[in-house]
Amino acid sequence: MIKVQIFNIQKFSIHDGPGIRTTVFLKGCPLNCMWCHNPESINKNIDILYDKEKCTLCGECIKKCKRGALKIIDEAVITDLSKCMFCGECAFYCINNARELVGKEYTIDELIQEVKKDMSFYEESGGGVTLSGGEPLLQIEAVLKILKKLKNIGIHTAIDTSGYIPFENMLKIIDYTDVFLYDLKIIGDDKHKKYIGVSNALILDNLKKLSNLDANINLRMPIIEGINADLEDITKAIEFIKQVKIKDINILPYHDIAKHKYKKLGRNYREDIMKVPTDKKMQIIKNMFEKEGYNVKIGG
Ligand code: SF4
Ligand code: SF4
Repeated sequence: MIKVQIFNIQKFSIHDGPGIRTTVFLKGCPLNCMWCHNPESINKNIDILYDKEKCTLCGECIKKCKRGALKIIDEAVITDLSKCMFCGECAFYCINNARELVGKEYTIDELIQEVKKDMSFYEESGGGVTLSGGEPLLQIEAVLKILKKLKNIGIHTAIDTSGYIPFENMLKIIDYTDVFLYDLKIIGDDKHKKYIGVSNALILDNLKKLSNLDANINLRMPIIEGINADLEDITKAIEFIKQVKIKDINILPYHDIAKHKYKKLGRNYREDIMKVPTDKKMQIIKNMFEKEGYNVKIGG
C-alpha cells in the first residue's frame, strides 16, 4: 500500500495559496538551501530533534532505549543513528520535551480523512489543500493519488514545488493541480550552485515547460539579504520571468525564526551571511516587479 511520509499538517493556513487551506508538509528534498525554514523536511526519513537547553541529563531516555542507541557525551545526549529504530520511546518518556521525532507515515485514506475535516472552511473561503515540503513531488505516486482523491471530492489543490524534479513528475499531476506555487530562488547559476549546491538549469527549464502548458503558476521568491537581494539579482530574475507566462509573484522576506531547529538537528546555521531584508528593500523589489506589470505581494 502506498504511504506518504509527512512531518506536519498545518490547518487554517492563509499563506500557501488562495483562501483558508490545510498545508501538508511532505518529507524529503533534493535541495539543501541554507535558509530553509523547514530543515527537518530535507531528510526523507524520520529525524530526531534534541534540545540540549531543555535536557537535564536525567538519563531516562537512555534507560528506555532498547537498542542502546543513546549515550551522554560532553553533557549532551548523543544518538547513534545506526542503532536507532525510530520507535519514539525516548521522546515519549522525556518529561522535559527535549527529544522529538519528526516524520510520520500516513495512508492516503488517513490523510484524506484528516484534510476533509475542514471542508466547510475551504468552501466558505475558496481555499483547499496545499502539498508542500520538502519537495512534495519526490513522493510522486502518493501525491498523484492524493490529488486525484482531493479533486474527486471537489477540493482545490496547490503544489508548492522547488522545481528540482524530473518534468515527468509535473506532467503526471498537472491535470489535478489547480495552482503551482513555484519557488524561484537564484537566477545566476554559479550563485545557485554556491548556495544551494546544484545547478538551477532544471528548475528554470521546468518552469518554462510548465508555463508552455498553460499551468496556473504563482511564483514565489524568497528574498535573503546577503544571498539574492542585490538589485542586480532581481533584475536578472525579472529578465528571466519575462520569458514565462506568469502574472502573480510573492516575494517572501527571509526571517531567522527557524534557526533553533538547526541547533536541535545538530546542523550549522549561517547567520553570518544571511540577513533579514529591510521593509524598504522589500518595497524597492516589489516596485521593480510591479513596474514590469506583475501582481506582487510581499509575503505568502
Ligand atoms: S530523558 Fe530528556 S531530559 Fe532526560 S536525559 Fe533524556 S533527553 Fe535529557
Ligand atoms: S527512537 Fe527508539 S531506538 Fe531511537 S534512540 Fe529513541 S528509544 Fe532508542
